[in-house]
Amino acid sequence: MRLEALTARQTDAYRFVRDFAAANRYLPTQRQIAEALGISPTTAREHIAELVRKGYLGQHHHETRGMWLAVELTDEELPEPPDPAPPVEFTCRGCGAHETADPQSVAAFHRFAKAFQEKHARCPRPICAPAEVK
Ligand SMILES: [Zn+2]
Repeated sequence: MRLEALTARQTDAYRFVRDFAAANRYLPTQRQIAEALGISPTTAREHIAELVRKGYLGQHHHETRGMWLAVELTDEELPEPPDPAPPVEFTCRGCGAHETADPQSVAAFHRFAKAFQEKHARCPRPICAPAEVK
């Protein structure tokens, strides 16, 4: 059986669902997934939809709790993500400083963005713009 690879964040979501299921014998809700990964419920729903589409999770239509693990894979068995999230460079247009964030999780990325903006809040032109590093 060959499964489509997951993005880094989908992998985080799959691992959380799998480990939660192993510990509790039922699957987490969308809200629990969102809270665990530090993402919005909307983003969690998108990750779940992709995990269902790619065959990692099953889901009954019209049932929020009707989800199941379609495959049980260890971390080693999970396919490598084809392209990990690219690093993002933040530049302060006030002082010209820049720092590169390596957003391995959405929560870590938001923390980085917030810290950068706070650090440069008093710069002459305090507009901090993130740009993807290619
Ligand atoms: Zn600055």
